[in-house]
Amino acid sequence: MNETTTEILALPAFQDNYIWLLRVGGYAAVVDPGDAAPVLAHLADSGDRLCAILLTHHHADHIGGLAELLAHPQTSAGLPVFGPALNNIAGVNRPLSGGEIAVLPELNTALDVIAVPGHTLGHLAYYGASLIDSNLGALFCGDTLFGAGCGRLFEGTPTQMQHSLAKITALPASTFVFCAHEYTQSNLRFACVVEPDNPDVQCRSREVAAARSAGLATVPTRIGVELATNPFLRWDEPAVRIAAAAQLGQPPQNAVETFAAIRAWKDRF
Ligand SMILES: [Zn+2]
Repeated sequence: MNETTTEILALPAFQDNYIWLLRVGGYAAVVDPGDAAPVLAHLADSGDRLCAILLTHHHADHIGGLAELLAHPQTSAGLPVFGPALNNIAGVNRPLSGGEIAVLPELNTALDVIAVPGHTLGHLAYYGASLIDSNLGALFCGDTLFGAGCGRLFEGTPTQMQHSLAKITALPASTFVFCAHEYTQSNLRFACVVEPDNPDVQCRSREVAAARSAGLATVPTRIGVELATNPFLRWDEPAVRIAAAAQLGQPPQNAVETFAAIRAWKDRF
């Protein structure tokens, strides 16, 4: 469906958030506008019209700019605002719970809506299977998956989050993952402790350190990179299971227990 190239820009916000902006032919959609200012600056500079807002979850650093954007003259009247139905967020007029399709006609794009409870119970991810090009997809996952990490479990259980992450890793390994925070470098410090003998983690740590000292973003990441280096996805890996066993005092019985032990360890790290 995506016949024209979609440009995807990172608009930095706050300390370490990214607001992702999709643009095609004078129209733009934004994901998780926690702050209106960087979005309004883009609209002023580019002349783009805002045609849709997508929200992954209800935290203030993801929705805080919504009211100001909806009131702005460069925002189309009746603009669709997609977001989790569970949270009754003011301004959301396309409440979603997963399994729907978010159609963005101005961008000639439709995104699959995936329920990914864990960080929050209503958390959503948006996936475009051919958003980058005809065979290359993009996932906007909010605070569910980060570079070498995952979101904290503020509302959901380890079982819910592990199942949500497994849905994400079932997508093609080439998929670009647009995370909502620049956390990769600090997450890799933890990954190095979980898997000190994983050469991919060591290699990625060096690459990410170089990128950060050059002031570059380390996201989007890709699912294949995360599968090789992210301890929160490597519940089947013997070294990660051994690290989880050391935390638990006994071997984990399954993938959820392994994930839960690694998540609890990171919370104390
Ligand atoms: Zn959050």
